[in-house]
Amino acid sequence: MEYKAIVIDLDGTVYHGASIIDDAVKVIAHLAKSYKVLFLTNNSTRSRADYVRKLERFGISCTKYQVITSGYASAKYIKQKYGDSRVYVIGENGLKKELVEQDITLCEDDCNIVLVGLDKEFSYSKMAKALTFILAGAAFIATNTDPFLITTEQVKPGAGALVAAIEQASGTKAIVTGKPSTFISDLLVNEVKVAPNEILMVGDRLDTDIQIGIDSGMRTALVLTGATKMRDLEQTSISPDYIVESISKIPTILDENQDR
Ligand SMILES: [Mg+2]
Repeated sequence: MEYKAIVIDLDGTVYHGASIIDDAVKVIAHLAKSYKVLFLTNNSTRSRADYVRKLERFGISCTKYQVITSGYASAKYIKQKYGDSRVYVIGENGLKKELVEQDITLCEDDCNIVLVGLDKEFSYSKMAKALTFILAGAAFIATNTDPFLITTEQVKPGAGALVAAIEQASGTKAIVTGKPSTFISDLLVNEVKVAPNEILMVGDRLDTDIQIGIDSGMRTALVLTGATKMRDLEQTSISPDYIVESISKIPTILDENQDR
C-alpha cells in the first residue's frame, strides 16, 4: 500500500514553542512534493490562520486547509451536532476565532454549551461559571485532554488539567473533539480525501497521535522528540508502526515502504 498523505502533529514533532526540531522545514518541503501534507494539533490557542503564520515564520508554507486544530474540530462538532447554540468558552482567541468562523454565538449567559480548551487565564471564577451552566444542563465539550505541554522553557499544564477540574466539580465527563477522538480523524479524512490506510500519522504522543492513527485505520510513526521517551514504550500497549528519533527520519520510512 502506498502512502498518499502524511499527517503531522506540531508541538513536539515539528517544533518546541519557538524552536524548530532538527531539519523539519526541509523534510516537510520534501514530503510536500510527493504527498498531501496536513498538520493536526490539539493546541486550540491559535486559529488555523494563526498556525499558517506561525509555520511561515519557520519557513514552512501551507494554507489553512492543511491545518486541523482541536479548536476547529470543536467548532465543526458544535455546528453539526447542535446547530445554532450559545457557547460559553474557556479558551483563548484562536479558539474563539474558529467558533465565530462557523457562525457560533459566544456568550456569558443562558449558554447551552460549555467548551473548554487551553486557557492561560483560567480562573476559579471561569470554572464556577462553567459549573453553573453544566449543572443547569449545558453540554460539556473539551477541545482535548492533553495533560501537559512542553514549551521551550518548561512543562506547563495542558487543557486536560483544566477539563479535569471541571469534570471533578460537575461530576460530568466532557465530550472530547480533538485527538484521540474519532470525530477529528473523520473530519480530517473527509477533508484530505484520502483513505485512512493511505495516511501516515506522525506524532510524539502515544495516547493521542498514535492512538488516533490506530483507531482510524492509519499507519503511525512515533517521534521521540516530544512527550514520549524510549522507556515509556516499555509500559504501554499502544504500539506504533514505526518509532523514529525525529521527523528527519520520516522520508527514510517512506522510501523503504516504496521499495517493498
Ligand atoms: Mg505533540
